[in-house]
Amino acid sequence: MEKEIQLKMLPEQAKDFDFIHRKLVDLSGFSESEIQFKWKKRSVDARKKEIQILGTFIVSNQPISINSSQPLHLKNVKSSPAIVIIGSGPAGIFAALRAIELGLKPIVFERGKDVRSRRRDLARLNKEMIVNPESNYCFGEGGAGTYSDGKLYTRSKKRGDVEKVLNWFVQFGASSDITIDAHPHIGTNKLPAIITAMRDAIVHAGGEVHFNAKLTDILIDKSSIKGVQINDKDIVNCTQIILATGHSARDIFYLLHKKGIEIQAKPFAIGVRIEHDQSLIDHIQYHGRLNDDYLPPAAYSLVEQVENKGVFSFCMCPGGIVAPCATEQEEVVTNGWSPSKRNNPYANSGIVVSVSPEDISSNNEDPFSCLNFQKKIERNAWEMAGKTQQVPAQRLTDFMQGKKSVDLPKTSYQPGVVSVDLTELFPDFITVRLQKAFKEFGKKMNGFVTSDAVLMAPESRTSSPVSIPRDKESFQHVQIKGLYPCGEGAGYAGGIVSAAIDGMKCVEKIADILLNER
Ligand SMILES: Cc1cc2nc3c(=O)[nH]c(=O)nc-3n(C[C@H](O)[C@H](O)[C@H](O)COP(=O)(O)OP(=O)(O)OC[C@H]3O[C@@H](n4cnc5c(N)ncnc54)[C@H](O)[C@@H]3O)c2cc1C
Repeated sequence: MEKEIQLKMLPEQAKDFDFIHRKLVDLSGFSESEIQFKWKKRSVDARKKEIQILGTFIVSNQPISINSSQPLHLKNVKSSPAIVIIGSGPAGIFAALRAIELGLKPIVFERGKDVRSRRRDLARLNKEMIVNPESNYCFGEGGAGTYSDGKLYTRSKKRGDVEKVLNWFVQFGASSDITIDAHPHIGTNKLPAIITAMRDAIVHAGGEVHFNAKLTDILIDKSSIKGVQINDKDIVNCTQIILATGHSARDIFYLLHKKGIEIQAKPFAIGVRIEHDQSLIDHIQYHGRLNDDYLPPAAYSLVEQVENKGVFSFCMCPGGIVAPCATEQEEVVTNGWSPSKRNNPYANSGIVVSVSPEDISSNNEDPFSCLNFQKKIERNAWEMAGKTQQVPAQRLTDFMQGKKSVDLPKTSYQPGVVSVDLTELFPDFITVRLQKAFKEFGKKMNGFVTSDAVLMAPESRTSSPVSIPRDKESFQHVQIKGLYPCGEGAGYAGGIVSAAIDGMKCVEKIADILLNER
């Protein structure tokens, strides 16, 4: 018989097997010799001075199955009906895996390189400040997710879908802790091997994954998909395309617009990436205690309404690194990642202001209003910091007073920092809101506002500034039959898990059509 039991424990107790065993024997009524248990959920409650770990356990007097409830069963799809997937980010990869599960053959075209070759381009970007426009932190196998932080929490409400994504990550090599932790995290060092294992499985099952294969045209006849053109030359005939090209594939937005395929300006968020010492964040969040063997490096999540606009922390990375995430040479873009142990001395997070098309342009019809705004700030940042991949930076307290910093502390940003007055980078409606929000954040987290904290900017690829509208039922583009806008770039996801879920859902829609035709 299985029971669910919750325990509130001190961090030390949560790592003490004998303590948990004794407690569960007391509470379950099962005897010491027969009891079996496993963690179901784990979270840190640091609201009060005495920090507690909240644990939910499955307890039984029989062996408890440790198998995933939703394992991926791969079929041989070599001769099955094919679907074309553009992009191998989380949306594209999970679409491919789900296609195989459903008995369809995925053919994936990815503009960038495989994870291993991509790593060399990231090293060049960090050390020599050379941006390869096809292979960078956003483009290449695994998409923006591969060299990301790999935080896997999502606001998605459908637990079943979320569990499926997490279980598949575990099946391909992630720690099973991600299915237990309230804030699961994989880490940049682990993701490449997991992505490689997923690709191997796709190919082994009879699917195809092509690298250095950029979608350059979409062939349409009478409002229906007829094929794709790859690298300006190869034509692949198909009737269904999953377009999962991510938020940074601006050429795709331009291509769709040129072909008269509807796209729309979409609200997004822009701001700065802030970096503190991790020990300060631990001290604040853990009420004077530092992270140790029993507590993970502390995270935070901040949000404030300022003059009717949300200002919020985004993609907070404890023990992380601020990364150069530009996709072109003449722009600067920041984001953050962390390794699985989150053991770097810094904590970073985006702090961003919501921006809607009306804030920027009086032309409601312009689908590129938000994208152009984003581009301009990224380009200005590049110019301000000396036209390299160095990042414009300022001490937090100086930003709040609108004065350039005399000097800057050491940061994790490898290409280097240049002192500027960031209030000159942003229009007032962003600067003022950021300044006001920081004041409030300082009240919520005593010590957050310090001259030792550094802002780097811009944090501008928070989500797509353009959406590609699709029908709510069929998931096909509102004008083009067989075109499935998918994932973050199309405006249907905001992170790894939600992109993966959207990829799977698009395939399910296609399977309904293709498999019923047979
Ligand atoms: C540094 C960093 C850290 C992040 N940390 C996290 C995190 O911790 N947790 C989280 O949930 N999210 C994080 N994100 C965001 C997350 O990575 C994205 O939300 C997610 O990857 C979106 O998935 P996607 O498949 O929709 O698009 P993407 O991952 O952007 O994938 C799109 C793919 O399409 C390819 N492509 C583009 N154009 C073409 C074309 N014309 N032809 C062929 N292929 C093309 C690209 O090369 C890319 O591989 C982070 C992002 C970055 C950059």
